[in-house]
Amino acid sequence: MTTHDFNETDPFDVAPLRLTVDLGAIAENWRAMAKRSGNARAGAVVKADAYGLGIEDVGITLYEAGVRDFFVAAAEEGATLRSFAPEARIFVLSGIWAGREPIFFENDLVPVIASEEQLAFWMGVLAEHGDYPYALHVDTGFNRLGVPLEDALALADDTSRPASFSPVLVMSHLHSGDNPASLLNRQQLESFRRVAAAFEGIESSLSASAGIFLGPDYHFDLTRPGVALYGGEAVNGVANPMRPVVKAEARIIQIRNARQGETVSYGGTYQLSRESRLAIVSAGYADGYLRSLSGSGLPLRHVVRDGAFGYVAGRKVPVIGRITMDMTIFDVTDIPENEIHAGDYVELFGDNIPLDDVARAGGTIGYELLTGLGLRYERRYLDDDS
Ligand SMILES: *Cc1c(COP(=O)(O)O)cnc(C)c1O
Repeated sequence: MTTHDFNETDPFDVAPLRLTVDLGAIAENWRAMAKRSGNARAGAVVKADAYGLGIEDVGITLYEAGVRDFFVAAAEEGATLRSFAPEARIFVLSGIWAGREPIFFENDLVPVIASEEQLAFWMGVLAEHGDYPYALHVDTGFNRLGVPLEDALALADDTSRPASFSPVLVMSHLHSGDNPASLLNRQQLESFRRVAAAFEGIESSLSASAGIFLGPDYHFDLTRPGVALYGGEAVNGVANPMRPVVKAEARIIQIRNARQGETVSYGGTYQLSRESRLAIVSAGYADGYLRSLSGSGLPLRHVVRDGAFGYVAGRKVPVIGRITMDMTIFDVTDIPENEIHAGDYVELFGDNIPLDDVARAGGTIGYELLTGLGLRYERRYLDDDS
């Protein structure tokens, strides 16, 4: 006879690592960004598996919330999204190469033509196959993707071009939208205004999350929020108005007592200044809890003084010593012994520890933390849209 009924255990309740994704918060964040987009329609960027949160659940949520213009990085992502977003336009930001036509045509994906070579290739495709929608990405200063401004203006002025050679959307991308004080935003805006004017009657799009916060001048016809939908910080130095979406938690494997003078973790880079209690937690850099979040033992700590903090038993607790592949050590000495136990969960980020605070401790941005979460999390999606 057994005293355990294994079937009754919800894997989420006992998982070493778990992730809670609040789909209702994603829908609410999208509505908030749609409202901030003013007269422009708001699309949604769901590249990289919806910033690591899961293209299926996120795609369905956004589609049901009303998104009809999605942006992905790669055609494969678009093909996956197509089954959840039957009526939407799906733009593929990396554009198209020869030989890749089938995945676009079969899934009704819109290539975002991103270079002179792609444009030449695409004009040949249109000449052969006739009308098929595409978007034109114009470089206004990012120097990543986009045809040169002059080429775009020349294309617009080419009266010999058949009507079917017109893009359905012209777009560009701001490089410093997260810095509202940057004068370069204004310069890119002026360049893009020339593009939008040259392609009069064709929809235009300039702003990702950050650009939406720059105000109505930057909104044009369609906006492309990404990170803000997932609760991330879009603008530097401003309180983040978005609802948090993700909570990452890891279980305490054991709580150890350690003596004053002893060291902690690889390299012995942290020496205990007091009798301590240490929580050994089952998340490491293989789970995207970056080594650069370590409490000590990294050159980065000379630049950004503190490593990351976790949250447990109602308190913030610091990471001490180096983060390892599968484990991280938190100093829980200040938590009364009866309030914390092996098996408890430490919040790595979520409602109490903002994602972007953790990212800053690691010298990076929330985007990178989200997209690097790794495969070991047990996931739970909350979908009450309230
Ligand atoms: C990633 C991306 C976006 C979304 O950016 P966020 O900062 O996440 O809102 C929009 N447009 C383009 C071209 C992108 O590459």
